[in-house]
Amino acid sequence: MAGIYIHIPFCRKRCHYCDFFKSTDFGLKNRLLASLNHEIEIRSSELSSEEINTIYLGGGTPSTLLLGELKELLETIRQNYLVSPDAEITMEANPDDLNQSILSAWKEIGFNRLSIGIQSFSETDLKLMNRRHGVMQAIQSIKWAKNAGFSNLSIDLIYGLPNQTIQEWERNVRIAVELDVQHISAYHLTYHEGTVFYDQLKKGILKELPDELSVQQFEILIRILKEAGFEHYEISNFCKAGMYSRHNSSYWKGRKYLGFGPSAHSFDLNSRRWNVSSIPSYLNGLENGETYSETEILSEQDRYNDSIITGLRTIWGIREEYIRSRFSEPYFAHFQNTKDKYLQAGNISYLSGTVSLSQSGLFISDHIMEDFMVVK
Ligand code: SF4
Repeated sequence: MAGIYIHIPFCRKRCHYCDFFKSTDFGLKNRLLASLNHEIEIRSSELSSEEINTIYLGGGTPSTLLLGELKELLETIRQNYLVSPDAEITMEANPDDLNQSILSAWKEIGFNRLSIGIQSFSETDLKLMNRRHGVMQAIQSIKWAKNAGFSNLSIDLIYGLPNQTIQEWERNVRIAVELDVQHISAYHLTYHEGTVFYDQLKKGILKELPDELSVQQFEILIRILKEAGFEHYEISNFCKAGMYSRHNSSYWKGRKYLGFGPSAHSFDLNSRRWNVSSIPSYLNGLENGETYSETEILSEQDRYNDSIITGLRTIWGIREEYIRSRFSEPYFAHFQNTKDKYLQAGNISYLSGTVSLSQSGLFISDHIMEDFMVVK
């Protein structure tokens, strides 16, 4: 079981909070796509014996690509890898790129899951974030996607925005529920260095939401979605029965994946590889045979810490036996001691040999994960 991720590094506009690798200059798009198809071909031996269960087009904004360009990427993958007949094939999309006919065409060429970047159902929030779409466009895009036959729809929301009241956030979550999607990812705003929001924060133009309000918004999110029948399966992810993101769940379960395109990461259980975060350097690598990636062999400490970060964030947790059998005694001892500490505090639960975050642990998950990790 393995996954494929493709990074499309183009956006029509920069959102003020976003630190993903992207460019608003589409001038190199054709060369980029040629190199992307080439990379998919030349790395096929890396997963030649594995069945591909998930394909994920992210970015950037993959929904800016033309139908023919998307079709070619999927065909190149199918020609070079063993793609499972029931593979989950996801496209990240922005509402303003969507209409009824393009959605039907995507369904036709094989996409069976959409992740739509809604972010908020408030015009004020959308303007503040510099999003391209409006609220009505967002709602309409979900209706079109359903009409086109997408029965696995995910939407992204952001909370903890400056000045966002509890009532405004609650309204967002309730609208999301009413739209009857299968999956919701809700992230707290982070002020990443290099973004407009970060600069505005430093200049005092924006003010961070107080911690108490952020916690209350997270509580509201969890409560309303649980009442509406969603399962809270990862810190920021909720889904209707069984509708987990199979692709992201594979990351969290430590499975192999290949990442194509600038800034994309790959993982083969023993090493991590990351492509250069520069379109010209990526093109130079694929067109002229220059190096365009770096690889790191994972030490025992890296593998242990990765297991903590990925395992503890999900409802599937971490099996104690896994840590005992895969890592040397000092790691297992540290795991046990930390487990006992948080078990006493009620921040983790321990059932059938598996450690996972409890409801109270979810609110201090970063702190707990840091404590479980080993830093030498
Ligand atoms: S949030 Fe999405 S659309 Fe906005 S700049 Fe980032 S990648 Fe592009």
